[in-house]
Amino acid sequence: MNVSLENSVQAATVREVSQLTPGMPASDGAGVQLTRIVGSPMVDMVDPFLLLDAFGSDKPGDYIAGFPDHPHRGFETVTYILAGRMRHKDNAGHEGVIGPGDVQWMTAGRGIVHSEMPEQEDGLLMGFQLWVNLPGKDKMTAPRYQEFPASEIAVEDLDGGGTVKVIAGRTDAGAEGPVKDISTDPLYLDVTLTPGAHFGQSVPAPHGGFIYVFEGSVSVGANGTEVPTGTLAVLDEGARVEVTASDTGGRFLLISGKRLNEPVARGGPFVMNTRAEVLQAFQDYQAGRF
Ligand code: FE
Repeated sequence: MNVSLENSVQAATVREVSQLTPGMPASDGAGVQLTRIVGSPMVDMVDPFLLLDAFGSDKPGDYIAGFPDHPHRGFETVTYILAGRMRHKDNAGHEGVIGPGDVQWMTAGRGIVHSEMPEQEDGLLMGFQLWVNLPGKDKMTAPRYQEFPASEIAVEDLDGGGTVKVIAGRTDAGAEGPVKDISTDPLYLDVTLTPGAHFGQSVPAPHGGFIYVFEGSVSVGANGTEVPTGTLAVLDEGARVEVTASDTGGRFLLISGKRLNEPVARGGPFVMNTRAEVLQAFQDYQAGRF
């Protein structure tokens, strides 16, 4: 193989950044201030991911109102807490509190009504909420919860310096996340790299994915695209993700999942395949059928 061909094969297999964008300030629930990273005018979705919000404030006024009772149908919500505590409670009798490093993966399926409220009156509340779409065949499945404390989340130490927390999926070195049996076969990693450290991970070709940097900065892909703090890097096609930390180090989420390539009809808290199915969801909710 000649050198230029070898380079082009290499370039085809490492995922480059197809879009680079900061999140936008938004308000949701009863007035929680957050940053909308996916699900914004800049990035409508990264199939199969419909939304990514980051919340992080030590001002109670930014979060205290929380997310009182509201419904969901047709997708999954994933809450990952970095600081502070949130209590969730739903109409199916599930209730719990998640704190730093804990994760809750909720499959709303055919419908739940729940509240997500800060379990604190002051101090820092920080974390992420991700919305993962369900394929049409699973949108009306029974609601399901997977909730794991930080102690049950696999942590892999990287040779080059740093750690990987594995919430879902499996790293190339074999660390496996506790969240299982999700339709889109997702990878959800929280990666911390020391200055100059490198992290590589295979991601199946049919999977869409992104990186969100929330500390320091990193460079991504063979092109070495710089991704600073507070920036989303949508990943292009390819078989591997390659990330190198800057000389300040970096921390980021690497999230990927099987693209659904299905029509998406959004109606607030309901995400279905067609407009008619969204209207049906509103009717079912109003009629108390959730
Ligand atoms: Fe919710």
